[in-house]
Amino acid sequence: MQSEDEEFPIEVIALSDFTGNGSDQLAFANGDRLLVHAKPSSDWWWAELSGVIGYIPASHVCPGGATEEDTSMPDPWQDEEYFDSYGTLKLHLEMLADRSRTEAYRQVIISNSASLKDKVMMDLGCGTGIISLFCAQLAQPSMVYAVEASSMAEYTKKLVKQNNCEEVVSVLQGRAEEIELPGQVDVLVSEWMGNCLLFEFMVESVLLARDRWLKEGGVMWPSSAALTLVPCQADSYFSEKMHFWERPYGLDFTPLQSLAQQEFFTKPKFSYLIDPTDCLSTPCDVIQLDMYTLQVKDLEEMHGHFQFWIDRSGTFHGFTAWFNVDFKSMEPGGTAVQLDTGPHSEPTHWKQTLFMSDRPVSVHEGDSISGSIVLHRNPVWRRHMTVSLHWNINSSSKDASSCQAGTKSFPMWR
Ligand code: SAH
Repeated sequence: MQSEDEEFPIEVIALSDFTGNGSDQLAFANGDRLLVHAKPSSDWWWAELSGVIGYIPASHVCPGGATEEDTSMPDPWQDEEYFDSYGTLKLHLEMLADRSRTEAYRQVIISNSASLKDKVMMDLGCGTGIISLFCAQLAQPSMVYAVEASSMAEYTKKLVKQNNCEEVVSVLQGRAEEIELPGQVDVLVSEWMGNCLLFEFMVESVLLARDRWLKEGGVMWPSSAALTLVPCQADSYFSEKMHFWERPYGLDFTPLQSLAQQEFFTKPKFSYLIDPTDCLSTPCDVIQLDMYTLQVKDLEEMHGHFQFWIDRSGTFHGFTAWFNVDFKSMEPGGTAVQLDTGPHSEPTHWKQTLFMSDRPVSVHEGDSISGSIVLHRNPVWRRHMTVSLHWNINSSSKDASSCQAGTKSFPMWR
């Protein structure tokens, strides 16, 4: 937000290309120098490039003239804000009250209890310690290192004691990247997933801990993860945000529609619960992660492709995404536990994420939508990303066979 002592204009440098969307956004290229004239919100600033004025996403620029040693540069991980939020109960209540999520982890421990006997485990980002406590109560590991960077760790120690688990669970307060353990671990368990799987990029901490602390042949939980996508109809969301302006109180407010589109459809809609009947096709996994082989550098840009066959006629408004993760079994012949956050499973606190296209298109059974998705990690704000979608709608109708292309990039930040 605009702070009173800021003097405009401020020079900033673009950190990546931005194509802009609609007439109010300013397109720019990586390295461009822009002048910011106002900061009407923390996300969108009003800026100028070569005499053209428009909104720019604040996450795509950094202060002009700043050097790497400049201590006034904000922390690109925004750790203070991030860990502060996990120091309060709001998020922990939301996660613990999410039964499908929490029960999935409990099920993993129960179904692997024989194999966990005498194992050394790390619970990375233990929060209130729930997973570590499940391990201590439902299996017999020799030790669980419960690592937590936020101040919640102080309470977690109390909870471990209160539940008589202090002989097995050792709470270590600190960032996983910085803590020291007496030795390597057999199992690394963590609940690191964010919106669209990767948002907030806690997964990076998990990969670094894996490379440092997991024994050769050790187990990763989750063991694999996938991002799933489906083309969808979103009639009521579209009406709520766009049709509204057609005739409120008998007046024509349509000049506000392009602003509405920009305001409501530029970012993805988090916490969206898609009705399964709004899926226009069978969902498909577009990005798959193997938690044993994934590298931190792979996270910079993740690519996926899709080809959907429309199986019910309707209006294509965009895509909905969610994720699922698998916990491979340590038991001989055991089956993996899966946590699926999609519309065909019990809703979780992640819900789903809706990406609205700018123009609804009628589609018919037999049409196909093919294209690609790219998750670009923000080069500066390391917990953020931009999701780019490109698609072609191929009509199957004999008399009007046609192809309509679409492309849109969605910045994702809090
Ligand atoms: N395991 C808990 C909490 C999951 S939320 C549960 O299932 O309920 C993720 C937690 O990881 C948060 O409490 C956050 O503060 C912590 N965390 C994230 N990155 C971390 C890191 N690099 N080191 C230590 N803790 C981290």
